[in-house]
Amino acid sequence: MANVDYDAIIIGGGLVGTAVAYGLARRGKKPVVLDEGDIAYRASRGNFGLVWVQSKGFGVPEYQRWTRRSSADWAAFSAELQKETGIYSGHERSGGVTICLSDDELERRATRMAQLQREAGDFGFEYEMLDHAALKKLITAIGPDVVGASHTKYDGHANPLYTLRALHAALLKHGGTYVPHARVEAIQAARNHFTITVGDVTYEAPRLVLGAGLGNNALGKLVGLNVPVQPSRGQIIVTERVAPVLPMPTLMIRQTVEGTLMIGESREEAGFDDTTSPEILHTLAERAAKTFPFLRHTCIVRTWAALRVMAPDGLPIYEQSAQYPGAFVCTCHSGVTLAAAHALHYAGYVIDGAIPPELARFSTKRFDHVQAVTSQH
Ligand SMILES: Cc1cc2nc3c(=O)[nH]c(=O)nc-3n(C[C@H](O)[C@H](O)[C@H](O)COP(=O)(O)OP(=O)(O)OC[C@H]3O[C@@H](n4cnc5c(N)ncnc54)[C@H](O)[C@@H]3O)c2cc1C
Repeated sequence: MANVDYDAIIIGGGLVGTAVAYGLARRGKKPVVLDEGDIAYRASRGNFGLVWVQSKGFGVPEYQRWTRRSSADWAAFSAELQKETGIYSGHERSGGVTICLSDDELERRATRMAQLQREAGDFGFEYEMLDHAALKKLITAIGPDVVGASHTKYDGHANPLYTLRALHAALLKHGGTYVPHARVEAIQAARNHFTITVGDVTYEAPRLVLGAGLGNNALGKLVGLNVPVQPSRGQIIVTERVAPVLPMPTLMIRQTVEGTLMIGESREEAGFDDTTSPEILHTLAERAAKTFPFLRHTCIVRTWAALRVMAPDGLPIYEQSAQYPGAFVCTCHSGVTLAAAHALHYAGYVIDGAIPPELARFSTKRFDHVQAVTSQH
């Protein structure tokens, strides 16, 4: 049996775990990522790809600030990954819109945006409410059923698969280790000393990061962390490639750099069932076609469903174990949006051995009393 020492063991090789692992490696640390096999639930391979701000943090300004920080960092993060690996993440910060199909929707949207601005305080939050004519100037393809939209300059999108690939490549380039088919079922924990055996190999490190998505719920219990994440299903439709038609992403429809249109996303409580359902796909397609009538003549090439990693209040969970200092959890339902923050900042907190006070709102302490869901993608 071989014993291998690292600076940190990260459990989970999706967008969250790999972002933190890369963040450690780019700071000269030696991380190892232990990742389950292909049968695992992997939100990172089935998501929509928004780097999204304008729906984040109603009633929780800390979340808006953290999201804005990541969104602002994304361009440099993407450029760094491309420089390191030659892989372009597809990131564009072109601004984004949430489209409304009725006066009622538009009014509710305006109220929400005003709330975000109010709660942003000195930090500021710039947005515009656009009527049909103003939106048509930005996105000419909208149909007559579109009443208006909210617009912010902070939003954007990326290709989550290229991002994940780039993170893995950059991790290896900086001396990190990735171990596939390595499901972790037991952790030997002591203060700042963690030992995990998978197969014939035992991994040891002074830091442990739970970045295992839905797996964090069970893993947390092994190191004194309460991580009550649950699945929330989302379904996505992808069309054939068409010439550039959307200059910016919308909350529900975006055009990829390759030309396909992605249409999503639903939110359903379906347990661990990650299959698609015709009713939901029909609803998504109908709304998309009302928004952009040209879609009625565009072929669908693929649909899928995937499971979000959702805390009861929809916020990220960042915590260090009080029982076993050195063990951290990093989990969220917006792992694309927050990838830059996890790589560029959260990894530093793991090294320092402390999560800063501005992230205290995301501590597990809040699960003493459950709150309402406060965020969307
Ligand atoms: C339909 C849909 C749309 C979405 N749209 C967006 C969006 O537009 N923008 C956005 O920012 N986010 C979006 N998300 C959310 C985003 O995809 C997730 O936040 C992110 O992928 C979570 O990444 P993760 O690494 O935590 O989890 P995962 O991708 O699930 O990865 C977890 C990894 O941990 C491994 N693992 C689990 N248990 C163990 C174990 N015991 N031992 C070893 N390994 C283990 C698994 O094998 C897996 O590889 C969307 C999600 C869905 C489902």
